[in-house]
Amino acid sequence: MDKPFLAKLRRIDPYVPGEQPQSDDIIKLNANENPYPPAPGVQQVLRTFDASRLALYPDANGKAPKKALAGRFGVKPTQVFLGNGSDDVLALAFQSFFCSGEPILYPDITYSFYPVWCDLFRIPYETMPLDDNFCVDIRDYDKPNGGVVLPNPNAPTGRGLSLASLEDLLQHNADCVVIIDEAYVDFGAQSAVPLIEKYENLLVVQTMSKSRSLAGLRIGYALGSETLIATLEAVKNSYNSYTLDSLALAAGEASVADEAYFQDTCRKVMATRERAADALRELGFTVSPSLTNFLFVTHPKKEAPVIFEYLRQKNIFIRYFKLPRIDNYLRITVGTDEQMDRMIEALRAFL
Ligand code: PMP
Repeated sequence: MDKPFLAKLRRIDPYVPGEQPQSDDIIKLNANENPYPPAPGVQQVLRTFDASRLALYPDANGKAPKKALAGRFGVKPTQVFLGNGSDDVLALAFQSFFCSGEPILYPDITYSFYPVWCDLFRIPYETMPLDDNFCVDIRDYDKPNGGVVLPNPNAPTGRGLSLASLEDLLQHNADCVVIIDEAYVDFGAQSAVPLIEKYENLLVVQTMSKSRSLAGLRIGYALGSETLIATLEAVKNSYNSYTLDSLALAAGEASVADEAYFQDTCRKVMATRERAADALRELGFTVSPSLTNFLFVTHPKKEAPVIFEYLRQKNIFIRYFKLPRIDNYLRITVGTDEQMDRMIEALRAFL
């Protein structure tokens, strides 16, 4: 049958998120989630939330969590933007700031959502190759461009840039917006937030999904100059005023209120990461230095997809990307010590 409307539909290759198997009987190390629960204050909000509040629309401006975040980072609430996960914030930032028609720049190996947004919003882009150690050479970004987006630390490689390098990048990119995606920054990397006051064209994007154990609630945010934040607000309010629901707004505020729990959780994840990295090296893996809550590894004798499938059969889920340059690598999220021990035991038996 002839269906002419089919020719008018949008065709696009979407981002493919990590698998979310529903069984409880698995070790889930495939989506960079936090193995610990959110702060006790968040649990308290969920227990005591008055369901009748759901009859009303949430605060479109998210005043309470913005105030909490502004206090934590020493900026004004008008320098904070909230979104439904940092994916939402990044997608809006791409639409808001990458409008010149010139190609934007980002690394060849990076968060695989960037090309998808470029495709969706029809933004031209150019990728800059990481070096053989998977490091960014910021000199690659000294060229005319429509914007720069850089995850720091990078994913899935786990490698980070120093604050001095980030400042160098900003000094050479004053004519465009530079987005630093800090999804994993709390696990040991240097944040670019202190540079916001000096560089009006810098947007720092963070998330409560990883270090604050709130992936299921979808809370992301951006910090930047009032000019950039006002532009993001205008674009957001041109497509959906209520990107965060009332429950997320209340829980996000409670999470920020408990700095000690946050610090403690990050410390535990980092300690487990180093322990697991040592154990993997003992098994012959090459492990990239990681400033994140995951490890990026390869084995000289066993192929990555074979290891991936073996662990999967054992109900241990990690991540494999069949992509150029990294198709013999595996990304393993840092779980609890016990989860990592079980994974390492399974690998020892296999090898
Ligand atoms: N940036 C990077 C580099 C990521 O790996 C992720 C997680 N997939 C995100 C942003 C988005 O995370 P979220 O939407 O949960 O905040």
